[in-house]
Amino acid sequence: MRSHRFKAQRARFAGLLIVALMAISPVLLYAIQGLNFKPGFNLFSPAQDVEVGQKASGEINSQVQLIRDRQVVDYVTRLGKRLAQFAPNQPRGANYKWTFHVVNNSDINAFALPGGFIYVNRGAIEAAQDEAQIAGVIAHEEGHVVMRHGTHQASQMLLAQAPLSILGQLLGQSSSLASQMAQLGIAFGVNSILLRNSRAAEAQADEVGTYILYQAGYDPYGMAQFFQIIEKKYPQRTIQFFSDHPNPGNRIKNVDQEIPLLGPKKNWKTDSPEFQAVKRRLASMPPPPKPAPKK
Ligand SMILES: [Zn+2]
Repeated sequence: MRSHRFKAQRARFAGLLIVALMAISPVLLYAIQGLNFKPGFNLFSPAQDVEVGQKASGEINSQVQLIRDRQVVDYVTRLGKRLAQFAPNQPRGANYKWTFHVVNNSDINAFALPGGFIYVNRGAIEAAQDEAQIAGVIAHEEGHVVMRHGTHQASQMLLAQAPLSILGQLLGQSSSLASQMAQLGIAFGVNSILLRNSRAAEAQADEVGTYILYQAGYDPYGMAQFFQIIEKKYPQRTIQFFSDHPNPGNRIKNVDQEIPLLGPKKNWKTDSPEFQAVKRRLASMPPPPKPAPKK
């Protein structure tokens, strides 16, 4: 009898708790759902993401021309690190490297390597109208990092080639991870599979990017608006972007549906004098070298 009553009380308490949670605010409910940002199938560990990203970053740095100007690089690094504090799904011990580079290329593009190595093209900064837009681009890239899309793609490719048991063993040998991957046909440079995102991955990076923007106090519409504006306004300079980041379709609609779930409308940050100063700084530099032929 006692245990029955206890169970009934517990059930009533659980019911009350649910009602209370629903009543408190959509923010809390979303915070609960927000913990469900789930990366896809992956053969690599988060620590290996860093290892793979580091290797790929070394190669890419020798293939592209980086801008070394302190004002520009420090600005992007500060902004990127601030946003990364709000990125969900950073497993304990993964220690993503959150390293930011600016590429001297007028194509409007940005990309992310596993483990937190993020590249933003000069063209993307020049095309962004305000800080919320460029923050949106960076937050989207951070979404790819924390959802581990690069090594997810590589895992899918590997799985198509070899049985899981063999792959597991190979990738377990962390000391020779890079050479094992090379043997399995994974390249690390600008044409790497690590940079090729599916439409599903894009939709997820949008969702995470918008979440990061909101949490960091930026206008959460900044990201989707920027992607929509550049696609129409600069079709030639965005070819690479939409090849690396295929438009998932309904971008604006998806974000419109997500934002009310994040919480109330706030006094969102849209711009900063620092961002406009960086744009002027870039405008004062010699134009970038002619873009390399498209891959
Ligand atoms: Zn993307």
